[in-house]
Amino acid sequence: MRASRLLLATLREPPAEAETASHRLLMRAGMIRQLAAGIYTWLPLGWRVLKKIEGIVRAEMDRIGCQEILMPGVQPAELWRESGRWEEYGPELLRFQDRHSRDFCLGPTHEEVVTDLARRELRSYKRLPLVLYQIQTKFRDEVRPRFGILRGREFLMKDAYSFHLDEDSLDRTYARMRESYGRILDRLGMEYRVVAADSGNIGGALSHEFHVLVRSGEDRVAFSDGGDYAANVELVAAPAPAGGRPPPGEDKRAVETPGCRTIAEVSRHLGLPPERCLKTLVVKGAGDGLLALILRGDHELNRLKAERCPGAASPLRFATAEEIRAATGCMPGSLGPAGLALPLLADREAAVVADFACGANREGAHFVGVNWGRDLPAPETADLRNVVDGDASPQGGGRLRVSPSMEVGHIFKLGDKYSAAMNAVCLNREGKAQPLVMGCYGMGVSRLVAAVVEQHHDEAGIVWPVSVAPCALILIPIHMHRSRRLQRAVEGLYRELLALGIDVLLDDRRERPGVMYRDAELIGIPHWLVLGDSGLDRERIEYRRRGRPGTRELPLAEAAEFCKRQLAVPRAAPVPEEAEAAPPPQPGGDT
Ligand code: ATP
Ligand code: MG
Repeated sequence: MRASRLLLATLREPPAEAETASHRLLMRAGMIRQLAAGIYTWLPLGWRVLKKIEGIVRAEMDRIGCQEILMPGVQPAELWRESGRWEEYGPELLRFQDRHSRDFCLGPTHEEVVTDLARRELRSYKRLPLVLYQIQTKFRDEVRPRFGILRGREFLMKDAYSFHLDEDSLDRTYARMRESYGRILDRLGMEYRVVAADSGNIGGALSHEFHVLVRSGEDRVAFSDGGDYAANVELVAAPAPAGGRPPPGEDKRAVETPGCRTIAEVSRHLGLPPERCLKTLVVKGAGDGLLALILRGDHELNRLKAERCPGAASPLRFATAEEIRAATGCMPGSLGPAGLALPLLADREAAVVADFACGANREGAHFVGVNWGRDLPAPETADLRNVVDGDASPQGGGRLRVSPSMEVGHIFKLGDKYSAAMNAVCLNREGKAQPLVMGCYGMGVSRLVAAVVEQHHDEAGIVWPVSVAPCALILIPIHMHRSRRLQRAVEGLYRELLALGIDVLLDDRRERPGVMYRDAELIGIPHWLVLGDSGLDRERIEYRRRGRPGTRELPLAEAAEFCKRQLAVPRAAPVPEEAEAAPPPQPGGDT
């Protein structure tokens, strides 16, 4: 590929609205362009990356015996009415009518369509188990499309659906799929965690999410440094406090704290660490009144845990400033448990702090040196907080780390949810009709492009793993247009690299070396060869690896073979056995 003929659309400045590294870099590197909110065009380099990721996903699906199909993007409403989701799905489902006033939608997912296919084609157990998948464009009218292709409205998904006679067979395919997702993310060089979506419940999770650890993630996962445990932060039980409450060491006194409303301000003003400043959050109680939740200043309220407490309203609702004033005579910001006219519920860690600071329930004043059991009754306690870095893992030992994350895959045991609703039955061995048992397995192919960038970039641009780079190698000639001799050498090398099957980009533009370097860094080509007249004099060429320091000189004559060795793909992992043995051919069967 020649840069002079490529639609290379690099930008110096990222668009103002790009908040995340991947959005900024994919725009600046000329990989994507926005057409409308959450709707993007893929330019040549971005398209190549997308295709490579798609190729890896496809290869891993095929490897475990899944069969690729392609279903339509436009779906008739009747199917969605059968499953009950036409009413349930909400405004993410983009609905419209054709010229005959028939209702349709743009598919956000394909359970209905694939179940319809299955009920027509999978009439006998002899066809089972079967896994169908597609890599296809989805449309979801997201409330907040953002971060470029991380949360688009139109995006590319791999969605697979499996069909079984019984749960055991589903379990086996589910396990295979889980391994396969791991292999895909490994091949993409991703750091990820597998999160049981109904974490904590014993007896076989119904779904697992694959989260990549990215700074811009909208979720947060907690995972153990001493095992496989990982879960959405919201669902992780905090460990009980390690020790009891120390005895009081100070006297309680009031301190003026004018203008201090947040924990950070109070902590700074008082010169006390946030863990010794207790915060008071007021929520609606289960009955008519309000309830005060007390947490350490450095801890965050976990809303799920709070709304599970019998004294709190569910769903959780914070009291308004007016409601708080009416009930306590004080505004939020100066509230504290000592002398507060509200029922209290304290997080277990907040209940073991001694000599703490808290609001004095008077505007602009706080107490310090407060102690439970002495200055106010020891509170009722519950686990109310989110876990933090360093907490003990609730399973399997080790310490927790908490990281922002983004879901890139989701595997799900559907059971007969769709097959029962849509009457998708097959005949079992006894000749009796029974609903198909189903699983579904989604992976965000376009989201993965952004996720890879989130994990693989530096100040200068993207640092693609070779497995998905738009090109493996870039050949950068220095002032080639001034030297015929150099031009000949570069053209010769370019042809040699192509002949070795290397995916090479020749930067044959009439650009200054600085511009070429900057673009090569920005678009993230992993291997570089740089050749100038002075190198040619010595029959030597410079080799660089994107993202690594230093350069290396190679004999020009050996450069192509050297690159080939650098790019040699390590032998693929052994192919696992088929997901399940294919059914023997049935004489006289319907195949
Ligand atoms: P999210 O919680 O991020 O909205 P989801 O639970 O709605 O995801 P699924 O319905 O499980 O997602 O879809 C399967 C996969 O499709 C997700 O794991 C994700 O990788 C991808 N995906 C979902 N929504 C989007 C989107 N708006 N843009 C890009 N990819 C998406
Ligand atoms: Mg969603």
